[in-house]
Amino acid sequence: MAERYDVVVIGAGLGGLSAAASLARKGLSVLVLERHVVPGGYATSFTRGRYEFEVSLHVLSDIGSPERPGGLQVFLRDVGAWDDVEFTRVQHFSRSVFPDHDIVLPMDPSGFEEAACHAFPGSAPGIRRFMRRVMAIAREAEGLSDAFARSRGKRLLRLATLPVRLRAMPRYAFTSLEAVLDRDLDDPRARALLCQAWSYVGVPPSTCSFLYYAATLGSLLNHGGWYPKTRSQGLSTALVRALQRHGGRLRLGSGARRIVVRNGRVAGVVDEEGNEIEARAVVSNAGPLATYRDLLKREHLPDGTLERLRRHAVGTSIFQVYLGVAKPVAALGLDSHEVMTNESYDVEAHYRRGFTFERPGHMLIGCPNLAVPEISPAGTSLVTLTAMVYGEPWLLIPPEEYVDRKLQFAERMLTWAETVAPGLRDAVEVVEVGTPVTMARYAGHPCGAIYGFENRPSSHTVLRPPPVGPLSGLFHVGAWTNPGGGYWPSISSGQIVGEIASVILRRGAA
Ligand SMILES: Cc1cc2nc3c(=O)[nH]c(=O)nc-3n(C[C@H](O)[C@H](O)[C@H](O)COP(=O)(O)OP(=O)(O)OC[C@H]3O[C@@H](n4cnc5c(N)ncnc54)[C@H](O)[C@@H]3O)c2cc1C
Repeated sequence: MAERYDVVVIGAGLGGLSAAASLARKGLSVLVLERHVVPGGYATSFTRGRYEFEVSLHVLSDIGSPERPGGLQVFLRDVGAWDDVEFTRVQHFSRSVFPDHDIVLPMDPSGFEEAACHAFPGSAPGIRRFMRRVMAIAREAEGLSDAFARSRGKRLLRLATLPVRLRAMPRYAFTSLEAVLDRDLDDPRARALLCQAWSYVGVPPSTCSFLYYAATLGSLLNHGGWYPKTRSQGLSTALVRALQRHGGRLRLGSGARRIVVRNGRVAGVVDEEGNEIEARAVVSNAGPLATYRDLLKREHLPDGTLERLRRHAVGTSIFQVYLGVAKPVAALGLDSHEVMTNESYDVEAHYRRGFTFERPGHMLIGCPNLAVPEISPAGTSLVTLTAMVYGEPWLLIPPEEYVDRKLQFAERMLTWAETVAPGLRDAVEVVEVGTPVTMARYAGHPCGAIYGFENRPSSHTVLRPPPVGPLSGLFHVGAWTNPGGGYWPSISSGQIVGEIASVILRRGAA
């Protein structure tokens, strides 16, 4: 006899695990199928030699303090995952290195603004105007996630009154970051500094949604930046434990091959061994493109479903050099958990490099020891070099050239990193390199995309594919959907589906 669940979740990324934990907490029977042998998707770690490396996380937003919790803290408490993971606060937003500026940006709204004004005093009035716009959006975004922290009645009231309470968000709904910069600032150097977080959303000012950028930057400054003491794997594991405590199940090394459709609605999933698992709903964390292309037959989809997705551009992937370094962090001259190095002040040119094999124009040097000193063995440190690159050029390299290309690229990044951390190369004990090919292989997303579709003015938050799929009983979570890519947005998509799917399934059962 086939197994039966209320909900089968395909994929144990942050979106899938969050939806699963939330639905199980609401009393539904839930099974998560994960193709990989480790839960978390990109939110995992791996071990080489004596080092355990964080795969992805640089900084986490929306944790906040006990007195003023951010949306992520509220959600983790709600599903019962909060007590299983400990977070530590990072000190700076970044140290930003430009050809003739080296600026430490504090991780709070006024400190950030003052440091930017101090670096570019001639642009101070424009910087202050820009930051006012950023923080206005951040406050409204916070109000949105705050609605989920309320009891059901208050939540509905909050959501129903949104149109009258939201002012900045609708105003900037279709505006690019560049258009806002044009209003406030002329100096390209000041503009580049305020755009330093572009790599956190994946697109440069010309194509970046100002609303999404402002919500990302503003929530980090408002609630601080955080790092789980046990890396992102600790966060993923906490979500798994919460799921299991509420009676849900996780099956690792067990992918979904196909979504079963009967009478026009979702009826379950066939796993990679060919077993059918019945379900009243399926939540896919595989992204809508892969879900419609690989898991559903074309004839089951309403006309134009795939075509409609094509108006969204597939977003950036990433190139990572993971270094286990046999020197303490102080000896490397690194004093910020995130150093953002820039070849010039031309952010658009840095972004375009991501389509080539040339040395990147913008690189993050991450050092999590500055958040969690004991994250590597005593006397050592972890250093990660990160560049935003697109998947296509990498996926088209002939197999016989791949290793050379990858090593050349990593070599260029390491040489550049030495200008900020002299002596780094000589102290490297372990190196691992991840390219878009690696990302595509592990998470299965087209082009190894890390934030799903690009966060353009036409493809952010509610303009992305919605949580409710085109077939009855099908839901989407993860970076490709509303509200977008990144840790908190992906978790938040699971939170949204937890709310919506539980209501729909209860109505169906009534
Ligand atoms: C190197 C790197 C650095 C990053 N840095 C940051 C950062 O500092 N801050 C930040 O906020 N974000 C960062 N991100 C982005 C962030 O990690 C992602 O946006 C987010 O984790 C995506 O979560 P998701 O829910 O979409 O799931 P994913 O992580 O995409 O996982 C999807 C899961 O579904 C599984 N799956 C797919 N198809 C199937 C199937 N058919 N059957 C079973 N399982 C399936 C996959 O194996 C995978 O485990 C980074 C990403 C990377 C790669």
